Amino acid sequence: MTTLFISDLHLDPARPEITRLFGEFVDGEARGADALYILGDLFEAWVGDDDPSETGAFVAEKLKALADSGVPVSFMHGNRDFLLGGDYARRAGMALLADPMRIDLHGRSVLLMHGDTLCTDDVAYQQFRTQTRDPAWQAQFLSQPLAARLAFAQQARAASQARQGELREAGTMETITDVSPVAVEAAFAEYGVDTIIHGHTHRPAVHDLDVGGRPRQRIVLGDWYEQGSVLRVSSQGFDLSTLPGP
Ligand code: MN
Repeated sequence: MTTLFISDLHLDPARPEITRLFGEFVDGEARGADALYILGDLFEAWVGDDDPSETGAFVAEKLKALADSGVPVSFMHGNRDFLLGGDYARRAGMALLADPMRIDLHGRSVLLMHGDTLCTDDVAYQQFRTQTRDPAWQAQFLSQPLAARLAFAQQARAASQARQGELREAGTMETITDVSPVAVEAAFAEYGVDTIIHGHTHRPAVHDLDVGGRPRQRIVLGDWYEQGSVLRVSSQGFDLSTLPGP
């Protein structure tokens, strides 16, 4: 049996063809899997479970049908959809996972993460993350009217794009927005695993590393901007591949 991992779909009403591709994946390949893990940034933005977007309703319907067919679906928050709550998770039939989460995967102990906590060189982002993951901040934010929350999300997105432009101009985009090797080594050491699976950086790859004299692997999932991306893991091994775009 095969366990499937995806992340960074960034589903958004503006890209309906990718939402359709996701629907086909959930109705198709995922039906034959023994579990589906979504490691964050399923949605481009999420301002609360009362978000009325069609995309959210469609995704919940697809995932609920998958879960009801007997395939467990698990979701870990990303930096875009960290406000996805228990109400929506129930509607979608998915379990909410803490970040990081250690699981047993075909006899191997594996650490799952979204990946943003490994990007410790991005100090400004880590400050934003600390602030917005604070339960008091979240309660205050969620108490605002939907329109105000949507406006905030739009503003945050514009600020993030402006900052990426600045980093690109300064030539530090590649290093600042990727994982820090020090943080990666620390995670392997702290959790005692030989494999980490994460997304977030949109740099799909399998990195063979030596940490503390042991061979380890860091598997990075790809995004779903132009195509799909999936990691399949079975007792035979794993395969990180692209799903043809629409
Ligand atoms: Mn992310």
